[in-house]
Amino acid sequence: MKVDAIVLAGGKGRRMGGSTPKQYLDLCGKPVLYYSLKAFEDSFIDNVTLVCGEGEEDYCRKEIVIKYGLTKVNKIVAGGKERYDSVYAGLMADNGCNYVYIHDGARPLVTQYILERLQHYVEKYGAAVAASPAKDTIKIDNGDGFIKSTPDRSSVWLMQTPQVFEYPLIRDAYQKLMDSKDRLKQAGVSVTDDTMVAKMFGDVDARLVENPESNLKITTPEDMIIAEALLRKKEEN
Ligand code: C5P
Repeated sequence: MKVDAIVLAGGKGRRMGGSTPKQYLDLCGKPVLYYSLKAFEDSFIDNVTLVCGEGEEDYCRKEIVIKYGLTKVNKIVAGGKERYDSVYAGLMADNGCNYVYIHDGARPLVTQYILERLQHYVEKYGAAVAASPAKDTIKIDNGDGFIKSTPDRSSVWLMQTPQVFEYPLIRDAYQKLMDSKDRLKQAGVSVTDDTMVAKMFGDVDARLVENPESNLKITTPEDMIIAEALLRKKEEN
C-alpha cells in the first residue's frame, strides 16, 4: 500500500498582512511550513508533494527541504490562483498511490495521532477529514447583515486538514471540477475544501474524524502567538 501527501503552500496569506507569505514566517526559529512537513516526515506516509507559489520552488528546496533534511518531499511544484488549483497541481504531480493526504501547510500543529486515525477511517470509507465540533453557535446570514437561521450546534463541525481520500477517487473528482470550473464560478459556487469536491464530483461522503488536539490554521498575526505557545508546550512534554 502506498500513501502520499500533498502539502499546500501556494497561498499569499493576505489576511496576515506583511509581504512574506504566512507559511514562511518564523515560528519558534523555523518556518511555519517546516512543522507540517516534519509531521509527514516522521509518519508512515511514503512521499510528499509540496505545492508552493510560482517562483518559490528554489526557496522551498534550499531553505526548507534540504536545510531540514526532509527526505520524503520528492516533488516541489507551483500551485495556482485558488486553493483548488494548487490541490489539482499536487494531484497531477503525484505518481499514483492508494491514499492521499491533502494538508494545508499553514497548519503546523498536525500530529501523528490524527494522521493515524485518518488512515484508519479512509481505509474504511474512502474519504476522511480531521474536524472539530463547533464551540460557538453558528448563524447563517441573509446576505444583508441579518440572521436568517441557526443550524443545530450539535451537528455543526469545523473542517480542518488533513483531508484524506482514495487517490483515484479524488483525482477523478478534481479532474471533473477543473472541467466545469467556469460553470461553477458563474453559478456562484465557491470550492473551499476537498470533501466538497469529493461529494460534488465523486458522490462520496467523507467520514468526520474528531481531532481532540489543536490544529489551528495560521491566518492572522494572533494565530502566530497561539501557535508559538502551543508548540512550546508540546516541546516541554
Ligand atoms: O488561504 P487559506 O488559509 O485558506 O489557505 C489554506 C492553505 O492552502 C494554505 O496552506 C495556503 O498556502 C494554501 N493555498 C494554496 N494555493 C492557493 C491558496 C491557498 O496552496 N492558491
